[in-house]
Amino acid sequence: MAKQQSFADKVAKAAMVKGSKCHVCGEVFQPILMVTSEKSPQTGSWKFNERRVQVCKCNEKKVYA
Ligand SMILES: [Zn+2]
Repeated sequence: MAKQQSFADKVAKAAMVKGSKCHVCGEVFQPILMVTSEKSPQTGSWKFNERRVQVCKCNEKKVYA
């Protein structure tokens, strides 16, 4: 019983740590993976950049535009 309790506590704590809040709008950041493609001027081949972005109400319009 006590073990289950502490496990649930750990899960709850982990979830809280994961979702950090924006101090401007108070929304929990949504981590998203943005993939952008770039053409290399040297080789002319396309490469993909993966970028992790934290989205909240302040920048969601910019990110999803
Ligand atoms: Zn915000």
